[in-house]
Amino acid sequence: MKKYILIIVSIILLACFFLILRSNEDWKTVLINENNPVPDNHKIKVVKLENVEVDKRIVGPLKKLLKQGRKENIKLKLDEGYRSKELQQKQREENISRLMSEEGMTAEQALIETNKYFAEVGKSEHQLGLAVDVVSEDFPYQEEAFADTDAGKWLADHGHEFGFIIRYPKDKVDITGKEYEPWHLRYVGKKVAKEIKDRGICLEEFIECNKK
Ligand SMILES: [Zn+2]
Repeated sequence: MKKYILIIVSIILLACFFLILRSNEDWKTVLINENNPVPDNHKIKVVKLENVEVDKRIVGPLKKLLKQGRKENIKLKLDEGYRSKELQQKQREENISRLMSEEGMTAEQALIETNKYFAEVGKSEHQLGLAVDVVSEDFPYQEEAFADTDAGKWLADHGHEFGFIIRYPKDKVDITGKEYEPWHLRYVGKKVAKEIKDRGICLEEFIECNKK
C-alpha cells in the first residue's frame, strides 16, 4: 500500500514541477496585438543595452545575436527597444503631425497610415520590452528595403538561433495587422523561434495551434 501512495505522490509532484516549468516560460510567447493589449499590471525590469532599453531577460540572447552577427561582419545596430506608454503616445503624435505637414495628409489619412506601423498605446510589443528594432550601420533605416541588405537577410536566416523571430512577416500582414517589418525582432525563445521559422508561421498562428 505504502508503495502505491509513494508512486502517486511522485506522479503529482512531477506534474506540478512540469506545470511550474511551463508557466515560467509563458512570458516568452505573450501575444500583443490589436486585440490583445499589454496587461495593466505588466511589470518588467528594463536594462540598457548599447543605445536602447530591453527586458532584462533578453539581454543575454540579444548580446549573443549581436556578437555573432558582427563576427560575421554584419554591422548590426540597435535602433529601438522598450518604449514606455508615454513614448509610444509621443511617437504616434509626432508621426501623425509629420504626415500632415510633410505629406499633406488629412488627420484621418495620417491616423490610418500611422496605425500601420505605430500601434495604439497599450498595443505595442515595444511596451513589453521583448521587441527590438535592429538595423545596420550600412542601412540604418526602418524601411522595407532593409530586408534585401546583408543585415536583413542575416537576421531572417539566423535570428531564431538566438530565440528571435521576424514578428511581422511580409506574407502575414492580414493576420498580424501590421505591415512587413524586417527589422522588428521579437524574443520568443529558441524552441518556439525555430518552430515558427521552420513552419513559416507567425506568432498569432503559433498561439492558435498551441492553445491549451
Ligand atoms: Zn519595432
